[in-house]
Amino acid sequence: MPGGVSSPVRAFKSVGGQPIVFDRVQGAYAWDVDGNQYIDYVGSWGPAICGHSHPEVNKALHEVLEKGTSFGAPSALENILAEMVIDAVPSVEMVRFVNSGTEACMSVLRLMRAFTGREKIVKFEGCYHGHADMFLVKAGSGVATLGLPDSPGVPKSTTANTLTAPYNDLDAVKVLFAENPDQIAGVILEPVVGNAGFIPPDAGFLAGLREITQEHGALLVFDEVMTGFRISYGGAQQKFGITPDLTTMGKVIGGGLPVGAYGGRRDIMAMVAPAGPMYQAGTLSGNPLAMTAGIKTLELLRQPGSYEHLDRVTKKLVEGLLQIAQETGHAACGGSISGMFGFFFTEGPVHNYEDAKKCDLTKFSRFHRGMLERGVYLAPSQFEAGFTSLAHTDADIDRTLEAARDVLSSL
Ligand SMILES: *Cc1c(COP(=O)(O)O)cnc(C)c1O
Repeated sequence: MPGGVSSPVRAFKSVGGQPIVFDRVQGAYAWDVDGNQYIDYVGSWGPAICGHSHPEVNKALHEVLEKGTSFGAPSALENILAEMVIDAVPSVEMVRFVNSGTEACMSVLRLMRAFTGREKIVKFEGCYHGHADMFLVKAGSGVATLGLPDSPGVPKSTTANTLTAPYNDLDAVKVLFAENPDQIAGVILEPVVGNAGFIPPDAGFLAGLREITQEHGALLVFDEVMTGFRISYGGAQQKFGITPDLTTMGKVIGGGLPVGAYGGRRDIMAMVAPAGPMYQAGTLSGNPLAMTAGIKTLELLRQPGSYEHLDRVTKKLVEGLLQIAQETGHAACGGSISGMFGFFFTEGPVHNYEDAKKCDLTKFSRFHRGMLERGVYLAPSQFEAGFTSLAHTDADIDRTLEAARDVLSSL
């Protein structure tokens, strides 16, 4: 396997050292093949929001397993999860299930273009929307940069229609719309960034994008693959009270099995085949096991107190970390919303990817290694958000903070 892994960040390249090979996961913990236990703040990159291997999710999976692993035909389970998503997420009136966040984002891009008849899109520097060609562009320096591909194998012609702007910069977006009249299909973004570290939207940013897109007949798309059902049960759009036209989902919605989804306004979703002419399909889409893990996970999440718990333990973790950093003389900034958090080894504030890049990566690598040695598994990159779950207890946070004090005192 290239790099010994099935997905790049897992290889620990940005922090150095060897990746940890997991054997099993349960609740807030992971065990490696040597039997070492870790408090896990990656949570399979988001899906494990109820805690790993939740007994109720596992029980439901066992029951469905007896009925078969794949139907390739409609099932009642899809309808149940679709109704739950439509009830929960303000923008979603119709939904299509796929198998990953990448698939959701590449499909929604086709839909944006099909619906508007326009080809250009706007994305933000540091936002990740899966590994489809058109999204593999990071901004260059200037305010408004034409997209150049990030990876060999992505044709320039593919990314020529991908315009980029710095996150939290409404003026840059206005310039792009002015320079490309009637050509921009829409704007896609992470409503809270998690793929450049944790970067929340400035006050007025999401509302400003809603206004600009409406003014220009373009669509607003929230990529809630990470934030959906995590920032709140209705996602970032519910939390911030801004309703996009379309939304992509993944991670939590599959409860640890491979699921993605895209949905939104009925008139737009009606373009998707077979209701409409925009083709998109999937052999395993709506898989009964995957739907079941999603349904059970959402059922657990909507029990009273879930988000209050996530909010409380996560705040305690991040505020504790920042306090300890200050006491031990390290510049740091960070924050959290519900069960999503991040911190940077830089004074801050961090409003966009450029700001985030000022952080001390060497210090982060040493911190990461020290925490690992003390049984705390953090995302192996300064540019990834962290996640807590319903299974994380105050005692877990206390142990984590103790480890952090130990490590930061020695750096
Ligand atoms: C993880 C992620 C994706 C890609 O999802 P995969 O399931 O890894 O393909 C897309 N967008 C965002 C915001 C993500 O966090």
